[in-house]
Amino acid sequence: MENKISEEEFQVCFQELSSGRHLNRNQWRTLLEGRNSERAELLAQKASELRDRIYGKKIFIRGLIEFTNYCKNDCYYCGIRKSNKNASRYRLTEDQILNCCRAGYELGFRTFVLQGGEDPYFNDERIVRIVGKIRKEFPDCAITLSIGEKERASYQLFKKAGADRYLLRHETANEAHYRKLHPKELSLAHRIQCLEDLKSLGYQTGAGIMVGSPGQTTETLMDDLEFLEKLQPEMVGIGPFIPHHDTPFREKKQGELEQTLYLLSLVRLLLPNVLLPATTALGTIDPRGRERGVLAGANVVMPNLSPENVREKYLLYDNKIHTGKEAAECLDALRASMGEIGYEVVVDRGDYISKTEEV
Ligand code: SAH
Repeated sequence: MENKISEEEFQVCFQELSSGRHLNRNQWRTLLEGRNSERAELLAQKASELRDRIYGKKIFIRGLIEFTNYCKNDCYYCGIRKSNKNASRYRLTEDQILNCCRAGYELGFRTFVLQGGEDPYFNDERIVRIVGKIRKEFPDCAITLSIGEKERASYQLFKKAGADRYLLRHETANEAHYRKLHPKELSLAHRIQCLEDLKSLGYQTGAGIMVGSPGQTTETLMDDLEFLEKLQPEMVGIGPFIPHHDTPFREKKQGELEQTLYLLSLVRLLLPNVLLPATTALGTIDPRGRERGVLAGANVVMPNLSPENVREKYLLYDNKIHTGKEAAECLDALRASMGEIGYEVVVDRGDYISKTEEV
């Protein structure tokens, strides 16, 4: 990509960001629009250095349990949206969920992520029961929920039952863009309210976006970066948008690998202590996507612990990887490939290190 942003202009903004200073919109624009391969490499190196200094050469693993693909929402991008009549729906039982945790624990997982559609069957009482059981059986593990928008009171109940972390990507911080991605029942204001509630309740909170989602522009990305700076989430999930054949976005273009990697680096530089996954979506668009994500500044991977017979049903997008492999097999491959690039997959809860705890 040839672009008109001069080397000097780019370097000034890069230095500002690297020294932890606040960037104005023009400076963010310079960084976002000034991307070329050398500059991306420069950012990746700086981001990696920063991550290594804070977290070491460690990769934290999270065992992902996709426990339901029923959803009452109808997000235009998502393969498990309620209008997708071709989705074959499933729910795991409490026992199945606990068995996933048990198998994961044996493999070395110390964080379990319960993710699902917004499934009314899993009301507060059921979630509290499940979280309580996991908390009791695995006192040394972190429990992460990723089950969408709820009332503050519900988040509070889950916290009390033993949940530590919550992932709720904001998807986009730009109102008009949010409207292009979601039906009218959903609002950006409510999603942001949820994130603020989660933070104030003491959850380690994850926000995030899909890169290249339809309607995303430099301006909307600037809104995202400014939003992240303000929210100061402990985690940020960033992966490419990938079209799903049974959604209104079936014909839309997939998000780009290079742009996703670049955003990972930018977010690492913006929020040095952030826990940043190299996502499954990134691994889906490129066979070395997750390794490249780590080299760009990521330090988390989330292998799938869901039972094999349901994995192919939790399809948020097309061609999702590892739908047919056992968790143990994926983990061995991950250990090897991370080892090759100089990183070690560790048995650790991998909690957020706040600035005051840094050594
Ligand atoms: N229902 C929960 C969990 C959603 S699935 C919630 O609303 O938070 C987790 C993430 O997958 C979403 O936040 C979204 O960013 C991502 N996702 C959904 N469809 C996708 C697609 N087609 N391509 C890439 N990522 C997608």
